[in-house]
Amino acid sequence: MARKLLLEHDSVPGIETFEVYRKHGGYRSVEKALKKMSPQEVVEEVQKSGLRGRGGAGFPTGMKWSFLAKPEGVPRYLLCNADESEPGTFKDRYLMEKLPHLLIEGMIVSSYALGANLSYIYIRGEYMWILDILEKAIDEAYAKGFLGKNILGSGFDLDLRVAPGGGAYICGEETALIESLEGKRGNPRMKPPFPAVKGLWGCPTVVNNVETLMAVVPIINEGGDEYAKIGVGKSTGTKLISAGGNLARPGVYELEMGLSVEEFIYGDDWCRGIANGKKLKACVPGGSSVPILPAHLVTKTAAGEDRLMTYESLADGGFATGSMLGSGGFIVFDEDQCIVRNTWNFARFYAHESCGQCSPCREGTGWMEKVLNRLEHGQGNLRDIDLLEEINKKIEGNTICPLGDAAAWPVAAAIRHFREEFEWHVSHREESQTRNYGLLKESLVG
Ligand code: SF4
Repeated sequence: MARKLLLEHDSVPGIETFEVYRKHGGYRSVEKALKKMSPQEVVEEVQKSGLRGRGGAGFPTGMKWSFLAKPEGVPRYLLCNADESEPGTFKDRYLMEKLPHLLIEGMIVSSYALGANLSYIYIRGEYMWILDILEKAIDEAYAKGFLGKNILGSGFDLDLRVAPGGGAYICGEETALIESLEGKRGNPRMKPPFPAVKGLWGCPTVVNNVETLMAVVPIINEGGDEYAKIGVGKSTGTKLISAGGNLARPGVYELEMGLSVEEFIYGDDWCRGIANGKKLKACVPGGSSVPILPAHLVTKTAAGEDRLMTYESLADGGFATGSMLGSGGFIVFDEDQCIVRNTWNFARFYAHESCGQCSPCREGTGWMEKVLNRLEHGQGNLRDIDLLEEINKKIEGNTICPLGDAAAWPVAAAIRHFREEFEWHVSHREESQTRNYGLLKESLVG
């Protein structure tokens, strides 16, 4: 079985309570960091570990921390991005439900490293029951002296608060999150300045994902070098994957970076293959915003190498034949699924979630949704496929925040790998309207 760093105790009854969590080694990293290490030493351990942000972008965490401005007399903030909303991604929900104290522990150590005395967990508005779980755990941590003034006699003070999100996907973009936390509409800001210089209330701020902050705990307990020994190349440590779609055993898994995609999909310890004995048709390996891979590129790269669960291997081939690890939302499609319908479904989501600040995203996502809608429902023509590609080019790279790219990439990849399926929807209008995809399967999958 794979080594687990975060989910080692997730099935222990009562692990969400301080008492049981502490009995299983909880809060050791706080004792070690606050009593034996300087803040700079904590930052250096995280740098050595090679930890990369687990929210989607994969930016090195230690480097992000090192960018934090430290002007005299100005407060700094650590914000936990728990606004998990990417379709197909549900790992942070599981982590926070099961292990609220692991998140608090990671936030105490990380706040200490960054010199933040007030930190926030910004949690997705629809996760209200988890907000209660977190607040209960935070109360326990205050009562036991792990939060508040002079934690463990170290002289370090930390207050931790939970803030409910604004109920929009875009609030997961770090500057939109900051706007929302300040009580405004969650519109992304122009960058620069970056949050590390001018973030919450104009002060230096770091925003990290739930899983990223939890990973700081084993890094401090075992040391950054030990953590870096797990994984392959620049993909170190373990990664939480939320596996969904047509899998025999979907769920949340923690795997060591470098596991083969084939083993992850078909292995007995993992997803156990495609549900109901069907064939694999495609996979979106990192949440709805990353390019879709057709079956022949899911387990092998275009060069014939084994595809691995790492940032690099999943991206091998660029967008022509690769994808991204993204947020770890691993969505599998069996042979009966319609790619056009799925692409339209994703496009509907992005059109709905665009904040509307920039024209390419506001207008482009709306047009993509309309064009995909008519193709899916047997009312499109071949020119529509080219039109989608044109709209994509107008959006990509021309927007304030990454939502525009997130909307464009899946459509571009779907057309690139499944153009004949889009054409089928034009040549089989009646079957498209009645969603008779059996015929589609016969003509395309064989
Ligand atoms: Fe808003 Fe879209 Fe522009 Fe992002 S890309 S700022 S979501 S309109």
